[in-house]
Amino acid sequence: MTAAETPGGLARVVPEYTGAEAAGGGVRLDLELTQGVPWRVFTLADPDRLVLDFREVDWTGVDPALFAAEGLGAVRFGAFRDGWTRFVADLDRPLAVEEAGLSVSALTGQASLRVFLAPVSEAEFDARAGAPEDPRFDLPEPAPVEPARESARDGPLRIVLDPGHGGIDPGAEAGGVNEAHLMLTFARELREVLVRAGFEVVLTREDDVFVSLERRVARAHRARADLFISLHADSLAAGVAHGATVYTLSESASDAASAALAERHNRADLLAGLDLGGTDDVVADVLMDLARLDTQPRAEALARAMVDGIASATGHVNSRPLRSAGFSVLKAADIPSVLLEAGFLSTPEDLERLTDPDWRARLARGVRDGVRAWAAADAAEAALRRR
Ligand SMILES: [Zn+2]
Repeated sequence: MTAAETPGGLARVVPEYTGAEAAGGGVRLDLELTQGVPWRVFTLADPDRLVLDFREVDWTGVDPALFAAEGLGAVRFGAFRDGWTRFVADLDRPLAVEEAGLSVSALTGQASLRVFLAPVSEAEFDARAGAPEDPRFDLPEPAPVEPARESARDGPLRIVLDPGHGGIDPGAEAGGVNEAHLMLTFARELREVLVRAGFEVVLTREDDVFVSLERRVARAHRARADLFISLHADSLAAGVAHGATVYTLSESASDAASAALAERHNRADLLAGLDLGGTDDVVADVLMDLARLDTQPRAEALARAMVDGIASATGHVNSRPLRSAGFSVLKAADIPSVLLEAGFLSTPEDLERLTDPDWRARLARGVRDGVRAWAAADAAEAALRRR
């Protein structure tokens, strides 16, 4: 087996012949793959992006710096959905796909993909932008949102855990750890603890794949969740913060840092190359929903109970542990939803705690205790509400 081959027949990017450079007033992009695969290319507007989709391509070891070229902005790539990977480059100016083709060498079997981007007017860029419809590549349609079910249900409470980020969107990165991977690990550990305590648990993702925010909420509805907990450990651009924080949804953020955090999360779908043109600001709409009048106080009570549970199990929470902002992932109108920032990867002491399995076990017990306390109080209140 040569170094270019990977077990299982997965095509791999060959970094030596891969990159981007300025050419003819535009940009030339070269991708060398160990074998030919189905692929497609298109551009998206607002913000302007170039998107390349591939079947089964392993990007391990590829440095985004290879694609540094005048006209191209930030570049990301990785798993998009099962069996499909995506490459997204931000465009600093309007550049349209002028030519694109993949040729396979009869000699080596290696495939060379070449894309020429040529400068066009903003109007022409907008006219040509858009994702071609292709069920082989596209994310499956989110399941339709089902109406709220009766609150009184027999059987165990069903908790949907939502490990943040994934695939092409790794989330925060620090000390060789990324948020997407760390939160999937924690979600699995927390699931064990919750299942042992008698709860039912469903995860919004089981692997390192991209799941859109809309789809995370749709999965909670489809699972008929009693509550939804999104799990994160972000980085902060400025300032030093440490300790766990629990966020609830609100139209106006509790503070500037929370607003920035929510905005960054809500952009994840755009950065991953989803075409969100035409979708409205759902958070504002959803707050008008009548169901939320009942759900929102329950979400806030859940957040308080989780903070209490985490504080007593780990001995530490953020100095302002309850915050709120317009997180799209918390928009389910009929499911009490909270977002747990387990800590900040950008803070060395948090990074040390988060990567320590013993500390995570205490955190998981804290969440369990909080959910338990909330469930008991919520059931008592539900009995009162029904009178
Ligand atoms: Zn995050």
